[in-house]
Amino acid sequence: MENSPTDPVVYAGILKTTRRRRKFLFITVLIYIPALLVIHKISPTDRAMGTLFAVWVVFLIISTVLVALCRCPRCGNYFHMHGITLLVLRKCLHCQFHIASNNIS
Ligand SMILES: [Zn+2]
Repeated sequence: MENSPTDPVVYAGILKTTRRRRKFLFITVLIYIPALLVIHKISPTDRAMGTLFAVWVVFLIISTVLVALCRCPRCGNYFHMHGITLLVLRKCLHCQFHIASNNIS
């Protein structure tokens, strides 16, 4: 609780960033199969598929790290991390603060 902001504008901004990063992760996960089908139509070679996979893995790593480093505006801990476990849930894993909440208390 010692690092938590009390200004509603600050924690609303933190929550907005968290939601944007979560959306980026979910889009990255969901876009793989459609992108695979599109690339297969354009160039059905192993090299093209491998390149797509490598690019997708890079985006997946980036989006996962960004989501993992989101801080909870109420308790100041990592929102989606508890120990080494990453769980992309809608509530903080430490204080149960909901991602869509407008009230920090
Ligand atoms: Zn929290």
